[in-house]
Amino acid sequence: EPALEAVDVTRTYTMDGVDVEALRGVSVRIDPGEFVAILGPSGSGKSTLMHLLGCLDRPTRGLLRIGGKDVATLTETELAELRNSQIGFVFQSFHLLARTSARENVALPLVYRGIGRGERRRRAISALDTVGLAHRLDHRPSQLSGGEQQRVAIARALVGDPGVVLADEPTGNLDTRTGHEVMDLLERLNTEQGVAIVLVTHEPDVAERARRQIHIRDGLIERDVS
Ligand code: ADP
Ligand code: ADP
Repeated sequence: EPALEAVDVTRTYTMDGVDVEALRGVSVRIDPGEFVAILGPSGSGKSTLMHLLGCLDRPTRGLLRIGGKDVATLTETELAELRNSQIGFVFQSFHLLARTSARENVALPLVYRGIGRGERRRRAISALDTVGLAHRLDHRPSQLSGGEQQRVAIARALVGDPGVVLADEPTGNLDTRTGHEVMDLLERLNTEQGVAIVLVTHEPDVAERARRQIHIRDGLIERDVS
């Protein structure tokens, strides 16, 4: 069964009374363990597709499934629980809490899942160890390099043991070399732990490292190649 699936989804935004079709009838299926890059020009609908696949947004038309469940049949609470248990999110600008240690940033998603303090601590340390930051537990984001901050964000995405990590331009704020180190890490999580990775990128050399490339243009899938 697919980890995530979008079937013939359309997403229309209304701005100043004008409708913009960001996606126009797109179908995508992400299977467990895949490593997928979504590419395309600015404004082509990449972020919109990621938000829909991550069930952060609902489509104007069409169907979304997460772990085989039709999102439209779930309450907001059920959807939030399913999303928290199955998907980890990584963003271009890290979105870490500034006054909070790496360990507490990583533990945060577990707070919302009602997991106790000791268990949160143990799992956050383990996730930071996985991304090679066991020696940075008490550092705040401003005390870390950009690459380290993104690795903390990846640890936060992993701490709930999701089947899929969705990453929107995860190397976009990093220099080329650091970007490739982050890609090395994502590749390792994919091959060694079987986590499915779906990332958006502008950069062809980042996209090339995925095993499947989905090219988007003007709200449509132009090419989907493995
Ligand atoms: P990409 O990620 O490929 O740059 P987006 O998915 O962000 O593309 O945007 C696709 C289209 O939808 C663009 O025309 C963009 O301006 C429009 N759009 C995206 N988000 C919104 C929004 N919240 N409100 C209005 N229009 C939006
Ligand atoms: P930027 O660098 O332009 O902020 P990001 O890739 O960091 O772009 O974020 C992409 C989008 O995801 C933004 O619209 C942001 O508001 C949204 N976002 C960021 N963090 C979260 C989160 N934890 N949950 C849901 N949406 C988020």
